[in-house]
Amino acid sequence: MAGPKAPARDQFTICTQDCGARCCRYITIEFPTPRSKDDWDRVRWWLAHEGVVVSKDEDGWNVHVSTRCSNLGPRNACTIYPHHMDTCKEYDATLCEYTGPLDQEFELTCELDLARYLERRKLKRGRDIARAIRRAERARTQGVALPLVPLQGLPL
Ligand code: SF4
Ligand code: SF4
Repeated sequence: MAGPKAPARDQFTICTQDCGARCCRYITIEFPTPRSKDDWDRVRWWLAHEGVVVSKDEDGWNVHVSTRCSNLGPRNACTIYPHHMDTCKEYDATLCEYTGPLDQEFELTCELDLARYLERRKLKRGRDIARAIRRAERARTQGVALPLVPLQGLPL
């Protein structure tokens, strides 16, 4: 015979115990669709850093940076609740990355991901960036020594 039905888990328990407060360990910033060479170069720069992911969903492009919120307590509880930000209050444990995969078109996690994306899409303004990433990758794997670069504006 089945025992008494377990009580439904509340959001606090799910967030602090089950999930481990994942959404308190990064920030997400929306940015306009990259179009120019400079835009793609900036995306490349972001992706060269650890803990950075660039993604696109139906609302547009986002950059995610792994960084722990300073208000997060040792047991994954928010130490400033209920005075935390509206952005945090909008998170719902039934509709977040813990519950299931987010509705993203794709994710780029490194420079090579970006090169593959630009090559696949054949984006004209990203072509030079994809080539630069491939060249850098070859140089890295071959251990090519880099030349000394003079400071800009200072004659040698
Ligand atoms: S809202 Fe979702 S991702 Fe954030 S702590 Fe709760 S369960 Fe985890
Ligand atoms: S303020 Fe609180 S709820 Fe918001 S990210 Fe920081 S720890 Fe999490």
